[in-house]
Amino acid sequence: EAKTHGPGRFEFFDVKLRERLQRRLGLEQDLRRAVLNEELWVAYQPVVELGTGRTVAVEALLRWDQPVLGAISPDEFIPLAEESDLINRIGIQTLRVTTQDIAEWRHEHEVPLQLAVNLSARQLDDPDLLVTVEQALRRADLPAKALCLEITETTLMRDPVAATAKLKALRTLGVSLAIDDFGTGYASLAQLLRLPLDILKVDQSFVTALVDSHEAEGVVGGIIAMAHGIGLIVIAEGVETAQQAGILRRLGCDQAQGYFYGRPESSTTWMPPEA
Ligand code: C2E
Ligand code: MG
Ligand code: MG
Ligand code: MG
Repeated sequence: EAKTHGPGRFEFFDVKLRERLQRRLGLEQDLRRAVLNEELWVAYQPVVELGTGRTVAVEALLRWDQPVLGAISPDEFIPLAEESDLINRIGIQTLRVTTQDIAEWRHEHEVPLQLAVNLSARQLDDPDLLVTVEQALRRADLPAKALCLEITETTLMRDPVAATAKLKALRTLGVSLAIDDFGTGYASLAQLLRLPLDILKVDQSFVTALVDSHEAEGVVGGIIAMAHGIGLIVIAEGVETAQQAGILRRLGCDQAQGYFYGRPESSTTWMPPEA
């Protein structure tokens, strides 16, 4: 039956809100089961050296194929996992599986491929993080320098002092550290200088803006110069076209990642959890 716009709209929003809450509640319960059910798996996306086109690293990106709803984005399920203890389980499992995959890869192909793994805010806060990372490396027999841990600018800026201490501790293991999604948070240059980092990943939004905007080119060029000034390697995220790649190369960007070079792809399925 036809409804007037006024009250109908309220009802519409109410339904939408209820749907959202229901989806979320359902997903939260499902995620627990998914972890035990091999519905989670890791995709790998190549990171390419802009000068040579050589793949120097791969980033591990979690995937969840929900049997009914299909693929659920990590942007949706990682925050859900963070609200429960599940993130610890998922984080440990991800580190374990990916270090083993890459160790095998390096062995088989005799290439010094690096592995990048994303860490969430709660993982960074976890007092067991160092032990977890160290154990994963030891079990896989992977040298620490082959592992890069990525933490978003937003996560680092929640509590820059605590983050700095944590990164320093992680660094003693010999792993490298990257600030992810750079440009989407509010890190000051002073804060950036204090963080013990090796890599700066320029957020995709800047790369997307490159082609039609000279201002964007100026900004990205500035970020690259600044990062190089403090000794960081720069990776551009979300490179989708040859044109973007060309501009980034000209701006002196070191490495790039994006659909232009390769999409995240499955190479292994999620391993069953330990007994
Ligand atoms: P991120 O770490 O910044 O990863 C880059 C995201 O950009 C990935 O999205 C990737 O698939 C996507 N991407 C790469 N190249 C392109 C491109 O050329 N065009 C476009 N449009 N997108 C591109 P994805 O896989 O959906 O992951 C989203 C975010 O979820 C990640 O952002 C990361 O913050 C988080 N995440 C993924 N896996 C994990 C994990 O194992 N642990 C934690 N804590 N977070 C994870
Ligand atoms: Mg990342
Ligand atoms: Mg990113
Ligand atoms: Mg991101």
